[in-house]
Amino acid sequence: MNNLIITIDGPAGAGKTTIARMVAEKLGCKYIDTGAMYRAVTLKVLASGVSFSDIPEIEEIVEKTDIEVDFNGSDMLIYLDGREVSDDIRKAEVTENTSFTAAIPGVRYKLQKIQRRSAEKFNKTVFEGRDMGSIVFPKADLKIYLDAGIKERARRRWQELNSKGEDVSLDLLTQKIKERDERDESRGLAPLIVPENAVKIDSTDMELKEVVGKIVALLDR
Ligand code: C5P
Repeated sequence: MNNLIITIDGPAGAGKTTIARMVAEKLGCKYIDTGAMYRAVTLKVLASGVSFSDIPEIEEIVEKTDIEVDFNGSDMLIYLDGREVSDDIRKAEVTENTSFTAAIPGVRYKLQKIQRRSAEKFNKTVFEGRDMGSIVFPKADLKIYLDAGIKERARRRWQELNSKGEDVSLDLLTQKIKERDERDESRGLAPLIVPENAVKIDSTDMELKEVVGKIVALLDR
């Protein structure tokens, strides 16, 4: 049986997770937020007190780390060494440091292996991240590059944090998103790029439903 794989890549705050979840709901399949995996490793590194510049030590930590995903209805849950950390990985400290962990070869090697295994396990899956269409699933059935203007991406992130009661300045958030994109786009290993044959969608002025409709229509074609 052939696996069906849809990839959604793009910069921070473009709406990838929400869109991936909605597309998966529509298709009756699973979605995997691969950023959550990089965040979980970062959480462990932060707890260990190891410096992000100590690459050999981090590679050793990740080798002994167990990362698993599960689902609660349509929501993906992430487990770090058997403990559910779906909320903990959203902390600002984790968000700010994940692009450092994500540039480490041993970390990417391990997580990419887990991602490919998930594709076999779930059979039909929407994967979202930074290197899904370029490196992990270059032969995906449909590849999307989801983007939105920086102002709109920062506004969405601000709204999300604000609804959780977090008081953050929009200017600072914009600056941090820019820095994170810069690190993700400029790293030597699996940088964020528009994958070959990917369909680019700019969601700046689009409703979520419109974006989902467009992706499902592309798949039907
Ligand atoms: O998608 P999210 O913002 O949660 O991703 C957090 C970070 O994880 C990104 O900024 C990026 O550094 C890293 N990441 C990655 N490759 C992926 C998914 C996420 O490098 N496939």
